[in-house]
Amino acid sequence: MVDKSAPRSGTLTARPAMKHLLDTTSADLRQWLAAHGHPGYRAAQIERWVLENRAADFAAMSDLPVELRQQLASEFQIFTSQIVSHRQADDGTEKLLLQLADGGRIECVLLRDGLRRSICISTQVGCAMGCVFCASGLDGVDRNLTTGEIVEQMLRLQHLLPADERLSHIVAMGMGEPLANLDRLLPALHIASDAKGLGISPRRITISTVGLPPAMDRLIELGAKYQLAVSLHAPNDELRSRIVPVNKNIGLGEVLAAAQRYLEASGRRLTYEYVLLAELNDRPEHTRQLAALLKGQTALLNVIPYNPVAGLPYRTPTPAAQRSFREILERAGVNVQFRERKGDQIDAACGQLRRSTPATDTSLVTLESPAS
Ligand code: SF4
Repeated sequence: MVDKSAPRSGTLTARPAMKHLLDTTSADLRQWLAAHGHPGYRAAQIERWVLENRAADFAAMSDLPVELRQQLASEFQIFTSQIVSHRQADDGTEKLLLQLADGGRIECVLLRDGLRRSICISTQVGCAMGCVFCASGLDGVDRNLTTGEIVEQMLRLQHLLPADERLSHIVAMGMGEPLANLDRLLPALHIASDAKGLGISPRRITISTVGLPPAMDRLIELGAKYQLAVSLHAPNDELRSRIVPVNKNIGLGEVLAAAQRYLEASGRRLTYEYVLLAELNDRPEHTRQLAALLKGQTALLNVIPYNPVAGLPYRTPTPAAQRSFREILERAGVNVQFRERKGDQIDAACGQLRRSTPATDTSLVTLESPAS
């Protein structure tokens, strides 16, 4: 394991209020250009530099007039976060802990699997859903991320790749409940999927949710074509309300019905997520209930053996319990897959790095961008 968060420059520096370029729409950028006497087509050039050519500063934008580059640098920042910690595991997983302009901290992860270059991004600072096994929700939610802060995670992780590699998959499964911040998430995913953005097919973009039916219905209304992964974590309401407290106000039946509506409207594959917790939701009776619940569904059940979090009492199920869980489901005809745990060495599970890095740890890491 490599931890690249060795102290370099002491305390985090206060920055003057600058506009976040990634929170500036193309229309606003064109307006700004016109107000400064530049043609509108420069907006597309600037966006290409940032999204395709991985430019991390305006000075690198060699086909823009020097005066424009200076004007941009005096009013805009491309990145507003700073890297507090950058960890790399032997399996190729890399994790960044970012400190936002207001001091909030979020995590994002790059996973390497064959030719896949997947990233997992956060959508909120903290989380209000309160899943009992999760480090991200322990202190509740501070705020929603802006669209620019969501895109910035994608670009920070893209910069970790060599110039000839591209991001292939995105999952909004980091810190926060993505559907609680839909208005900012969707424009960010549009940039990710747009041919002039990161060019990642919507089929390769997954929104993970505990299941908020009104927001799932909004996705349908808006014609979203992203994959949806719905976290179940329990096969009945009593247990689910203990593990995912927000379930008390929703109910498993509503969640499954909304998921089915999204499946029918979008034509996308539906995935259910199930974090397997030793002796809590991994017993044979849970498995049988789950099999009955998913009977006849075309959905994929993704089982994630729990990744222990310091300070929380939950444990990884034994290999025998995992085997039995899988066998009962397979016998019942459920399409089940166990997800490999990556990045255990680097606190890769959601929220762990943030918790294990004290807020007083203000050591900075400078990101080296291979293509800027
Ligand atoms: S598992 Fe996801 S939804 Fe649940 S508390 Fe953690 S970040 Fe929030």
